[in-house]
Amino acid sequence: MTYNLSKSKYQSGLQCKKKLWLEINDREKASPLSKAVERIFEQGTEVGIEARKRFPSGLLIEYDRTNPSSSVEKTKEAIKDGAEILFEGAFFYDDTLILADILTKNEDSTWDLIEVKSSTKVKDEHIPDLAIQKYVIEGAGLKVNKTHLMHLNSKCVYPDLSTLFVIEDVNQQVEELSESVPNNVVGFKEVISEEAEPNVAIGLQCKDPHECSFKEYCWEFAGDKAVFDIPSLSKKKKVILQDKGILTLEQLTKEHPLSDSEWEYVNRILNEGIDINKDGIRQMLCELEYPIHFLDFETYNPAIPYFDGMSPYSQFPFQYSCHVLGENGKLDHYEYLHIDNTDPRKPLAEMLLSSISGAGSVVAYFTGFEKSVLENLCGCFPEYSERLQSIIDRLWDQLNIFRYHYKHYAFGGTNSLKSVLPVVVPELSYEDLEVQGGTDAQAVWDEMINTDDEKQKERMKKELKEYCRMDTLAMVEIHKKLA
Ligand code: SF4
Repeated sequence: MTYNLSKSKYQSGLQCKKKLWLEINDREKASPLSKAVERIFEQGTEVGIEARKRFPSGLLIEYDRTNPSSSVEKTKEAIKDGAEILFEGAFFYDDTLILADILTKNEDSTWDLIEVKSSTKVKDEHIPDLAIQKYVIEGAGLKVNKTHLMHLNSKCVYPDLSTLFVIEDVNQQVEELSESVPNNVVGFKEVISEEAEPNVAIGLQCKDPHECSFKEYCWEFAGDKAVFDIPSLSKKKKVILQDKGILTLEQLTKEHPLSDSEWEYVNRILNEGIDINKDGIRQMLCELEYPIHFLDFETYNPAIPYFDGMSPYSQFPFQYSCHVLGENGKLDHYEYLHIDNTDPRKPLAEMLLSSISGAGSVVAYFTGFEKSVLENLCGCFPEYSERLQSIIDRLWDQLNIFRYHYKHYAFGGTNSLKSVLPVVVPELSYEDLEVQGGTDAQAVWDEMINTDDEKQKERMKKELKEYCRMDTLAMVEIHKKLA
């Protein structure tokens, strides 16, 4: 049995023919999976396992990567032997191999197909996933009666996980797509067998519905000048530009439909512009009161909740760093890192209240995030809500300086702390840190609290502390440069 297509390859073909071709013929051009994407896959697996528990009599067909035919044979045998609920049943038809998450047999010997997703709602891209499965399963000889999507229920609240999943009937949407599947399969097989890589220009498809793993390779020529990176550019304008073959900022001319702020960005990047409003910065800094606290949280948001009162993807903090700058220039540092798999919220909140005094500003970078974490803690611990609310009331957003008063071509299309720091404080860098961002921190924390290897645990604790500390130190040093 040779197969070229699968559920994921079919989806790739729908997103971009070049992506499909590269995945089969030149995989090395893909960027390595980020920790964030790995975490999404791991959560998907955990959700899949949890979903199966809702069907206690189901039979799991173990997939053998080295011998897919054996999995197809095992599936056939299980059906012949009277299995009524199958997990990961393997089917092969029209050079396409699919594994069906859950199949349940009806009294009339038809089957219902259930695809499990870790999202909290049905998304457009889920429907073709089911359409290709239905096509292959029916081609392999089974009659599919209904197709369903089983996703997480955002209203479910731990500890009651009985309502963790919602099963939605998506039969009609799948039926509407069914007609297009055979032609797509023919077309995708042709693409795969082409000698040369298909000539596809970069565009909206590179990030929709998922960021393409070949983006670095395909976008290299555009550098930081891709039109699709213009901040807040609407989808409608992107489509217009893509249809006209306008891919880079250099190709833009006056008649293109950009707003004043979009043109401002384009000109700043093309002319290496720097625009610093010193009066505006001074006025903003005057709002600050000593002692100035620089605060940053790291948070985790598991797909399947495991602490009281939490729903799927509810966020909880597991770490913070706080630098405190006194009027005399003295800098103190406080931090908290939760190191086991118990609920971190209460000990963290208590420690936070001892790190942040009753007076003075609390600086964060994008305060919306810190505010939401603090508000959640207020809701969980009414006994601390007054003091936590006082921290919320004193939040001050350093990001606003870079939104309104300090613009630099080297920031590119973002004002994130990691874009701003190398320009404003070039002597300070995240480069040598093992943890490179919030999603890395989540993955490392999850690993750290679950490992029994003490040496590894110590290493990961150090990495997490270094990273979070750097976030607040970066704000301190930026503040000093601006003051
Ligand atoms: S980056 Fe864009 S053009 Fe390149 S393969 Fe991916 S989707 Fe296609």
